[in-house]
Amino acid sequence: MKLAERVKRIKPSPTIEIDSKVKQMKADGIDVIGFGAGEPDFDTPDFIKEAAITALRQGKTKYTPVGGINELKDAIREKLKRDNDLSYSREEILVSAGAKHSLYNACQALLEAGDEVIIPAPYWVSYPDQVLLNDAKPIIVPTREENGFRLTPQELEKAITKKTKVFILNSPSNPTGSAYSRKELEGLAELLVQKNILCFADEIYEKVVYDGFHQASIASFNPQIRELTLTFNGASKAYSMTGWRMGYAAGTKELVQAMTKIQGQVTSNINTPTQWASVEALNGSQDFLKGWLIEFKKRRDFIVKAFNSIPGVTCTNPQGAFYVFPNVSAMFGKKYSGKTIKGSDDLATYLLEKALVAIVPGSGFGADRHIRLSYATSMENICKGMERITKAFKELSY
Ligand SMILES: *Cc1c(COP(=O)(O)O)cnc(C)c1O
Repeated sequence: MKLAERVKRIKPSPTIEIDSKVKQMKADGIDVIGFGAGEPDFDTPDFIKEAAITALRQGKTKYTPVGGINELKDAIREKLKRDNDLSYSREEILVSAGAKHSLYNACQALLEAGDEVIIPAPYWVSYPDQVLLNDAKPIIVPTREENGFRLTPQELEKAITKKTKVFILNSPSNPTGSAYSRKELEGLAELLVQKNILCFADEIYEKVVYDGFHQASIASFNPQIRELTLTFNGASKAYSMTGWRMGYAAGTKELVQAMTKIQGQVTSNINTPTQWASVEALNGSQDFLKGWLIEFKKRRDFIVKAFNSIPGVTCTNPQGAFYVFPNVSAMFGKKYSGKTIKGSDDLATYLLEKALVAIVPGSGFGADRHIRLSYATSMENICKGMERITKAFKELSY
């Protein structure tokens, strides 16, 4: 069998290999601590589950319009108005099987061979591969740790060519947790408008923010940038609904309808009970989130402090999401059992095999000097895990 060439263009998600190793170790009775989770460790709130159960009981189990039921589109429109100062019609919203699916629909609707897509690194693993699957070219632009991993308009401008079609913005970011202020976004928006470049604004971690930070939506600044922006969000992170698969995109009618046409030939609507549960999630009380954020913040503060107290390691304090992204390059060149640690992949293997801690190497996010740890796990695990990591780092030598 000859598989299509596009299969070779992409790689499996970098978390998968570690994840399967961890699962095997756990099955073998080994006490391994996992920092790999890309999802909140809290349960979906009960009132959301109840809405899905009610929908099932009422027989809401059939096809719906491709882009989502009107009730959900209206709940999304209300949310965008309430939280993001954004006004969209039903025709300007598409509900997909997760924000990841919305992003893919957008790539399908826009990209062709020769198009360039600017992706700041460190980046979420799926961006480059979705671009590659659609024949376009990801242009990876590194950000600086000293600048909180945020791209400046000057850095963006240098990467722009005649072929640039889209700029992907992710704030708060996975994997760094860094987030752009309104003023920083305004600088980027001005340049995008001037150069007429589309913007994918991935705001999935919008609600997971600390210390009073508020995530502004770039599309809300003026009609010009609204015209160029597609805003992505969903239920996965804010409502701990990763497995339910509800994400959405909001943008111009022309683009959103093109994406809807594509989705109509690929998956049709997302599952119907999830849509009804999502209506409840968006319209219901958001109070549960306060408790989650208090817990996340406690863990973030602990883990950032623990990393910064390891000699040679630096760890920026994230404004959002539930990841830390320490620079561990001080460990590179050191040895254990005769093996030299050359990069983040080697360090991940070392930590897993010798310290029984699973982290994700930065290589998969375009930042090999770093590792990613998710703190969507209990404080107990975090304390134990950080003790193990600190000890393991100390045991490395030249
Ligand atoms: C989790 C995540 C998503 C989307 O997840 P879905 O479950 O597909 O909605 C999108 N972008 C980033 C950066 C993420 O971390």
